[in-house]
Amino acid sequence: MYFKERAHAKLHDAQLQASLARFQGKFVPARKTAITELDDFEGTRDAAAEIRQRALDDLDVWLTIFDENARARGATVLYAQTPAEINALVLEIAQRHGVRKIIKSKSMVSEESGLDHAIEAAGMTVVETDLGEYILQINNYEPPSHIIGPALHKSREEVSALFEARHGTPRKDAIDELCLEARGVLRTHYLTADMGISGGNFFVAETGSVVLVTNEGNATLTTTLPKVHVAISGIEKVVPTLEDVATLMRLLPRSATGQSISNYVDILTGVKDRGEFHGVEHMYFIVVDSGRSAVLGSDVRQALRCIRCGACMNHCPVYQNVGGHAYGWVYPGPIGIVLTPMYVGLDNALDLPYASTMCNQCGVVCPVKIPLPDLQRKLREKEFERDLRSWHERVGLKAWGWLARRPALYGVATRVGVRMLRTLGDRNGMIRRLPFGSGWTDERDMPAPAGRTFREQYKARKAASHPDALAVSVQGKPSASEAREGSRKETLG
Ligand code: SF4
Repeated sequence: MYFKERAHAKLHDAQLQASLARFQGKFVPARKTAITELDDFEGTRDAAAEIRQRALDDLDVWLTIFDENARARGATVLYAQTPAEINALVLEIAQRHGVRKIIKSKSMVSEESGLDHAIEAAGMTVVETDLGEYILQINNYEPPSHIIGPALHKSREEVSALFEARHGTPRKDAIDELCLEARGVLRTHYLTADMGISGGNFFVAETGSVVLVTNEGNATLTTTLPKVHVAISGIEKVVPTLEDVATLMRLLPRSATGQSISNYVDILTGVKDRGEFHGVEHMYFIVVDSGRSAVLGSDVRQALRCIRCGACMNHCPVYQNVGGHAYGWVYPGPIGIVLTPMYVGLDNALDLPYASTMCNQCGVVCPVKIPLPDLQRKLREKEFERDLRSWHERVGLKAWGWLARRPALYGVATRVGVRMLRTLGDRNGMIRRLPFGSGWTDERDMPAPAGRTFREQYKARKAASHPDALAVSVQGKPSASEAREGSRKETLG
């Protein structure tokens, strides 16, 4: 509800701004280089979008096939309609197996349900094993600020101080030393945990497997050392075949971190057979709806193609300046702008569809070609239709709509408007304060317009290059371009 207020505060947070500047120098250039490794990057994007859309178009069928194949390999498949049901199912499984300690690798769906808090409230211990998530957990469960780099808003100094305070060890400043310290702490937990919880990048229908894509190896240990593994992910994460996973994997790490392949890709299928050494004794899938089927039935359904690479937020000028916490819920950036209102209700996320410049950088980089600005615009339309915007915005938009349908009047109004705006510019041609539009000028100056509309300038330039056309027009007869325009209007009419 309070994106604007939070974003304003984040713009003045010097430490956050330094972290965001560091982050911008990493993922964006790395992706740019990595996608050149593919012979046909755009063709691969088309194929990936088609795979995800095909899965969504027949989601019930692929879920049924996944369910049958997972059960055939000894796994149990459970379904959660709501966040509360996710937590209830996990606690039920934990009680059934006498679990006291749980280790977790990254799961955004469990963030949706506040699973860690539910586990602790039930008297069990839970330890996050993704380094970023671990840092946030020991910092009093600070929320993640990015879907693949949950703690990227934190500086090295902050992490050093946090480890010193929480681990009671001498302060370390080198990043590799900090990593080593976290690894030592986590290793004890891996070896003493009774149950491991993971997310799922993909659920593979043809084999009943879950695919996990990580860089730290923590998911591999989380899902293989304890005797029980619970994989939690949304219904939309089903893909038909392993061949499809191979195509998506050509894009996911490249779009996310600029890697050709992530350090670890686990494909986990069923429980271990009698006599087998590796594998878990009990495997559970929790397949979560929690608002997804409503998205599937809506006009923003393409958002469910998302493979959570984070490229849209990495390239978004809004995210780059305010970071993930400004968005107020689990999913930040351009995809969060669409998913959050759909999952928590448009009334509870009124600012989010407006947290975008509509520059379409997100749509250009999305590996599964989600038309994010179009979806954001649809949510804006819904807010307008449901009278959820303030009265002055609604009146303003209605007035603009009325004017835009009357081209002659629109032309006069814009001619007056640009001349008035021109007078507001200082001698450098910048408007420092815009009356009734302070949002545009609070944080930066706005260039004053040229004083003539685009149409006026275009007409003048054409006349300069074709003086004859101007002469005809001046004598009161239509110029060639006006005649063409007139005949087009007649045709349309
Ligand atoms: S919307 Fe596209 S770019 Fe953004 S996280 Fe999802 S797949 Fe990646």
